[in-house]
Amino acid sequence: ATPGGNRPREEKITVTVRLRPLNKREQSAKDHVAWECIDDHTIVYKPSQRERAAQQSSFTFDKVFGPDSITETVYEDGVKNVALSALMGINATIFAYGQTSSGKTYTMRGITEKAVNDIYTHIMNTPERDFRIKISGLEIYNENVKDLLNSESGRNLKLLDDPEKGTVVEKLVEEAADDDHHLRRLINICDSQRQVGETALNDTSSRSHQIIRLTIESTLRENSDTVRSYVASLNFVDLAGSERASQTNADGARLREGCHINLSLMTLTTVIRKLSVGKRSGHIPYRDSKLTRILQHSLGGNARTAIICTLSPASSHVEQSRNTLYFASRAK
Ligand code: ADP
Ligand code: MG
Repeated sequence: ATPGGNRPREEKITVTVRLRPLNKREQSAKDHVAWECIDDHTIVYKPSQRERAAQQSSFTFDKVFGPDSITETVYEDGVKNVALSALMGINATIFAYGQTSSGKTYTMRGITEKAVNDIYTHIMNTPERDFRIKISGLEIYNENVKDLLNSESGRNLKLLDDPEKGTVVEKLVEEAADDDHHLRRLINICDSQRQVGETALNDTSSRSHQIIRLTIESTLRENSDTVRSYVASLNFVDLAGSERASQTNADGARLREGCHINLSLMTLTTVIRKLSVGKRSGHIPYRDSKLTRILQHSLGGNARTAIICTLSPASSHVEQSRNTLYFASRAK
C-alpha cells in the first residue's frame, strides 16, 4: 500500500555535482584546478592560458558543490528530501556517479550516515507509527551478484521474478535492524566486505557497484488500516568508476571485464536518460542488466532519484570530468 499515486508531481530526478579538492598526488604532479563552481548551480571549465576552450565550458544543475562544501551540505541540499520520502512509502534511490577516485565512496558513506540519523530522528518524532527497518547489501561485479551480509553465499546469486515483489535476489540476506546502532553496524559490515574484495581482487571497487538497501515499513499503532501503512525501499548506490563506461580498447580479459561493467553502467545511463525525457521515451531497458533489474522498482514511476556526480578538479582528468558532466546534463 504505497500512497504515492495521488501526490502532486515533484521533480523525480535531482542531479547535483560535487567537485572535490585537489589531492596530494595531483598537487605534486603540478596539476591545476580546471573547474570552478561560480554559483550554487553552475560549474565552469577554466582553460589554461595557452588553451582556448573549444568545447562546452559551462554546465548548470539543481545544485553544484565546490571543494569547500562538506558532506552535510551535499546531503541537506541535494539528497535529504529524496531519502526521507522513503519514510512515506515512496521508493528512493541515491547514486554516486563519477570516475575512480573522484569521491563516490567518500560522499556515499557520509550521505548514508546522515540519512540514517535523519531516519531515526523521524522515527523518534513520530510515536504514533510503528516502524520496521530491514537492510540488505550487495555488490555487482562482472554481472555477478554477491551478498555483502553473507560472505558464505558466493559471488553469483540468481535474480528471480517474483509476481508481487518484482525482481528479487535469491537467498539475499535481509536483516532487521533493532535500532540505529545496529543498523550502522550492519552498514559497516557491508562496507568492509566490499573492501575485502578490493584487496583480494585488485581494486574491484572501481569495477563493482555496491547497493545498500533499506526497506522501511510503518503502520499506525492505533489503527491497522492497511491504507495507512507504508513500505518503501531506500537504495544507496556507489557505482563502478564511470571511466568503465567508455573503456573500449583493451586486451581480451580486460575487455571481457570491461564489457560486463559497461553493461550495468551503460544500461543505467540509458535508463536514466530515458526516464529524464519522460513519457515520450518509450521502452525502458531495465531488464538488460543486473543493476537496473534490481533497481527497477526504485527508478521511474513514483520513485524518486538523486544522482550525485563526483568530479576531480585536476586538469589531467578533464576528459573524464567532461564525460561525467555530459552524463549529468542528460540525466536532468
Ligand atoms: P571513488 O570512490 O570515486 O573511487 P573515493 O571516495 O575513494 O573515490 O575518494 C578518493 C580519495 O579522495 C579518498 O582518499 C577520499 O578520502 C578523498 N576525497 C574524496 N572526496 C573528497 C572530498 N570532497 N573532500 C576531501 N577528500 C575527498
Ligand atoms: Mg569507491
